[in-house]
Amino acid sequence: MTFPLLTLSPQQPFWKFRTHRVIANTTESTRNLCKSTLYLFLALATPFIAYRCFNSSTMFWSSSSSSSQPATKIDADSLRRQRINSSKLYQPDASSKVPVIYSSYYDISFLGIEKLHPFDSSKWGRICRFLMSEGYLEKNSIVDPLEASTEDLLVVHTEAYLNSLKNSVNVARITEVPPVAMLPNWLVQMKVLYPFRRQVGGTVLAAKLAKDQGWAINVGGGFHHCSGDRGGGFCAYADISLCIHFAFVRLNISRVMIIDLDAHQGNGHERDFGNDERVYILDMYNPGIYPFDMTARNYINQKVEVMTGTTTDEYLKQLDKALAVAGSNFAPELIVYNAGTDILDGDPLGGLKVSPDGVIQRDEKVFRFARERNIPIVMVTSGGYMKTSARVIANSIINLSKKGLIETNVHSGRKIMI
Ligand SMILES: [Zn+2]
Repeated sequence: MTFPLLTLSPQQPFWKFRTHRVIANTTESTRNLCKSTLYLFLALATPFIAYRCFNSSTMFWSSSSSSSQPATKIDADSLRRQRINSSKLYQPDASSKVPVIYSSYYDISFLGIEKLHPFDSSKWGRICRFLMSEGYLEKNSIVDPLEASTEDLLVVHTEAYLNSLKNSVNVARITEVPPVAMLPNWLVQMKVLYPFRRQVGGTVLAAKLAKDQGWAINVGGGFHHCSGDRGGGFCAYADISLCIHFAFVRLNISRVMIIDLDAHQGNGHERDFGNDERVYILDMYNPGIYPFDMTARNYINQKVEVMTGTTTDEYLKQLDKALAVAGSNFAPELIVYNAGTDILDGDPLGGLKVSPDGVIQRDEKVFRFARERNIPIVMVTSGGYMKTSARVIANSIINLSKKGLIETNVHSGRKIMI
């Protein structure tokens, strides 16, 4: 930067000249000084201003998104409703059949890997074969459910959780079969997750059939360790939660009771409905085994803890008491009965000592509870890890039929009340 020198001119009085020039030169130099200062300021301040602008815009967006929380919630609710209403899982033609739901796709079997898990992964098919061979079910009267689509699953599950299943390592952890981690995910999807999704379709459909006909049995399902954002304990999808959300929207049901009598605590549906007063949870479980989910335990409305070694008589006595309390506490419009058979004596995971006949009596008590009160009941078979489980479940269904608590004979032209 340069400052102009003062020069003399003979036409002007010295004082005037001097004053003008000084003012002019001072003004010009001041202007230059200001300009230079401004450039310097801009050069130094631009990054800072840009940083502040970025931050404030971030703050603006984050504050506007948090201030629009209620709107987001409303959107999530209406999106869920929209997904449920556009789902194809409630098949209209299923209501003319006996409400026993099964697909040959339920059974998991490939390369012998299924044998690495104590779970009898073909028990679902074996139950149906027992029922058919003994004349309690006809093949063409069984309801074959659709696969739950991604849109169906998003009714309860987060997108992040569903994406996590695209990694075989995560599926291996959930199913507790480590070699699954080594398989390409397309194979895992086809051989493990597809059968599960089909079973989920079965549980969802069961609520509709139960509403129509008073009862429905999904020969599979009962993945009670899975919640919207996490799976575990052989449970990859939250079929019970999905079933209930569909019932809320499509069946005009507003009060549901979950009776969870699997040996394990049903932490999945407990986490999903923890603060939902429309759902009453009666969970009778062994607290000394998986999943030890203390947070989910706080969400159980009626907790009945049965200790390792509990025998048939003691178990059934506790169940009688529990059902009486549940019946006086809550008046449901639908019961979802998670009928795990891992309470059987000898089960390697359940730790209880209930006899096969005890399981049959248990199921009868729950069905009697529902049918005497005229409450539609959905039964899912859930855990049950021994080869004998299929036989016990089939015997139990036969007993329900013999006692008139369910009707498994096919009546052509049956009039269905919807
Ligand atoms: Zn279990």
